[in-house]
Amino acid sequence: TVRVRFAPSPTGFVHIGSLRTALYNYLFAKKHGGRYVLRIEDTDQTRYVEGAIEGMLRAMAWAGVNHDEGAVLENGELVQKGEYGPYIQSERLDIYQKYIQQLIEGGHAYYCFCSKERLEEVREQQKTMGLTPKYDGHCRKYTLEEAKEKIAQGESYVIRLKLPENKDIQFMDVVRGNVTVNTNDMDDQVLMKSDGFPTYHFAVVVDDHLMGITHVIRGEEWLISTPKHVYLYEVFGWKVPQFVHLPNILNAERKKLSKRHGDVAVEDFMRKGYLPEALVNYIALVGWSPEDNQEIFSMDELIEKFSLDRVSKSGGVFDTDKLNWINGHYIRESSVERIADLAIPHLIRAGYIAEGEVSEKYHWIQDMVTVMKDRLSYVGEIVDKGEIFFTAEIKPESQEAEEILKLEHLPQLLEVFARKIQGVETVDEDTVQNIFKEIQKETGIKGKNLFMPIRVVLTGAVHGPDLPLILKVIGKQNILSRIEYVKN
Ligand code: GLU
Repeated sequence: TVRVRFAPSPTGFVHIGSLRTALYNYLFAKKHGGRYVLRIEDTDQTRYVEGAIEGMLRAMAWAGVNHDEGAVLENGELVQKGEYGPYIQSERLDIYQKYIQQLIEGGHAYYCFCSKERLEEVREQQKTMGLTPKYDGHCRKYTLEEAKEKIAQGESYVIRLKLPENKDIQFMDVVRGNVTVNTNDMDDQVLMKSDGFPTYHFAVVVDDHLMGITHVIRGEEWLISTPKHVYLYEVFGWKVPQFVHLPNILNAERKKLSKRHGDVAVEDFMRKGYLPEALVNYIALVGWSPEDNQEIFSMDELIEKFSLDRVSKSGGVFDTDKLNWINGHYIRESSVERIADLAIPHLIRAGYIAEGEVSEKYHWIQDMVTVMKDRLSYVGEIVDKGEIFFTAEIKPESQEAEEILKLEHLPQLLEVFARKIQGVETVDEDTVQNIFKEIQKETGIKGKNLFMPIRVVLTGAVHGPDLPLILKVIGKQNILSRIEYVKN
């Protein structure tokens, strides 16, 4: 059976590319009735960020990309589920010790005592000679007895892979096809560090093997490391999994998407009010495409349609406009209640409403969301786009709007309009329709000449949602104060 894994390192925020890697693993597992494992790769203690594991797990749960085995949060507690654990590499150190000893005894790895300074010197020399820097094999000369003696004397060491000379390492990548690299172009990779922790390259092979992983689906940046991994599988006599290296996600300039180029963290999208199903739908399409032109997919549809052979070789461009379009689609499809609940924290943060007012204003908030919902790309946009509902100081937002405020009949219209509004108890869609009819009868002002000035006075814009609905949401008092504001 298919077993795949997502193996994040807890080094900070969750990159949108990590969500895609996780998603593709998940989709592939579900499609084939397999198991999807989440393993925490925390062997680089210098890059460890407090809370990053929890943040990662929360982001995945939010997105609905749920794993069958591995580290999970249960009531905020980190626990592990599954029969192949522990799933956190820092809890597997004894396992790596066992396998590294096997390599040393078999003559496939060796102790290295070189100082940082010496390694740096060698690199510099190689660079000035125009060579690609790599370890020069200096410590290969020690016999195992000599090395053990040095260790007994307290010398610090790492353990390196002992690559054979001039051997072609071959493997098949599902996306890239056949890859061949000669060991002469490879480095005696460090497998165990001086702090007793394995490097990524060693731990990943041991764990993927012990956890029964059949397909390694991961980012393209790991492709160059794969020959080392394949060699280790061969030395151990283990079955090599299928490799699937996903193309990078690129920005509009076709450069690798990075933090400097705007939002790349899943947490950013969560915070702005993107819907999980929209982000998942969109990110699935960056680097993979269905056979037809379908663009909107539920998770079940993605599972049904996903296949590795439609993963593209070239990078996928992250297109915020398209994401916003897809997210807007899901917002429109969502209930008013759902969007209102998501909007409330944004309104509170913006200072539009106080936390204590929420229940008393809840129906009003729903009305406002009804007016705004179809115009939002993400829920947080309600702060800017909904500002008109929270301020009396409406300013014309365009030349056209300004012109409308200069219309000759405006004072007369506002005078009658204010009087009519004062005359009703509450403003709702029916009373508004009546008021418009009455104004028309009394003044002869009608159509565009009636609606446009009122719209601009109340919203500052010449376009926008249905006018009676806007009036209802703004409410009697605020309508009157906006008319006053324009008059002065
Ligand atoms: N820990 C690696 C990362 O953070 C995982 C690479 C792999 O999937 O093999 O990207």
